[in-house]
Amino acid sequence: MKDKQKKPDAKINDERAGILHPEQPLDEDNRDTALRPRSLAEFMGQAAMKENLSVFIRAAKERGESLDHLFLTGPPGLGKTTLAQVVAHELRADFRVTSAPALEKPKDLAGLLTTLTEKTVFFIDEIHRLKPAIEEMLYIAMEDYELDWIIGQGPSARSIRIPIQPFTLVGATTKAGNVSSPLISRFGITCRFSFYEQADMEAIVRRSAGILNIAIESDAAALLARSARGTPRVVNRLLRRVRDFAQVLPAGTAAGGSQLITTEIVAESLSRLEIDSLGLEKYDREILKLIINRYGGGPVGAETLAISIGESVDTLEDYYEPYLIQAGLIQRTPRGRMVTALAYEYLGVKPLNPRSEAGGLFAD
Ligand code: ADP
Repeated sequence: MKDKQKKPDAKINDERAGILHPEQPLDEDNRDTALRPRSLAEFMGQAAMKENLSVFIRAAKERGESLDHLFLTGPPGLGKTTLAQVVAHELRADFRVTSAPALEKPKDLAGLLTTLTEKTVFFIDEIHRLKPAIEEMLYIAMEDYELDWIIGQGPSARSIRIPIQPFTLVGATTKAGNVSSPLISRFGITCRFSFYEQADMEAIVRRSAGILNIAIESDAAALLARSARGTPRVVNRLLRRVRDFAQVLPAGTAAGGSQLITTEIVAESLSRLEIDSLGLEKYDREILKLIINRYGGGPVGAETLAISIGESVDTLEDYYEPYLIQAGLIQRTPRGRMVTALAYEYLGVKPLNPRSEAGGLFAD
């Protein structure tokens, strides 16, 4: 893996750290634990994944065993942490959470593992960023429920095995491709998150609005759901912002003075936030324009593109790209990123270079 991507450079530009950036949980996301589903029944969408998981959970419970280790992959804000908590709840097991960058030394991991109670769901976020020595320790812990601990130094050093309680490791990552195969092979269950369908996003809006005591018309909920990049964290943030506009803007202005959130209020709020009906924000549009204007529609490499937009490669790859690809506006080719014909249509510009169109010479 390129070192550049490993640095804690995933931090996004302050100016851009906003409601649409699901990779950076905001304080209010953390405070609003009420919105986080607790049980599988409350966890919306991802139906096939949920159904399989409920079978595995039931089977493990019936056998009185800990659940097999679980690998969760997908873009930020789609519910990986939430699902890990839900699994712990369904198993009636304890939940412990850490993230790979927080585990500096093997003793950090050992300290956690030795205090786990039986069947604990142990969540490690950003598991693609584990240091090699810690990863090695995890292999043995996952397979044998033991710690391999070296005592002493030099020639007198010896390793002892310390038993730990059987537990379920839940490893989450936005970059499955950067996780080593020995680690991946030790997970018995893999769940791949995809962006949520419109109907599921609407269900999330209705559920969150109910919890936050917000009255919202069904068309307004649909518009909000459509504008949130298929991402629950984003839709919850947008809902709060729309509530702010409705509450504070004076009655008589498009968004203000109403107890009930209408489509008009949502539309006005979105336009004030510079979010369009596809859920794209200013910087998404800038990326598309940049590829077109500076790189003739592409292909352009991720690093060059990231530098041009002043973001880290991580932010580009984890946040902007997956949704732009899902929306059919850019595509990844072996030679770099290219905009598609749809992107030209979306921006209302004509392709100058016929090769730049989707399905052109450089397409996959
Ligand atoms: P990730 O760990 O993938 O970045 P989180 O699990 O932190 O994402 O989810 C972000 C927020 O989105 C949660 O706080 C929760 O409120 C909401 N959320 C996620 N998944 C769902 C879901 N399936 N149904 C309802 N709300 C969800």
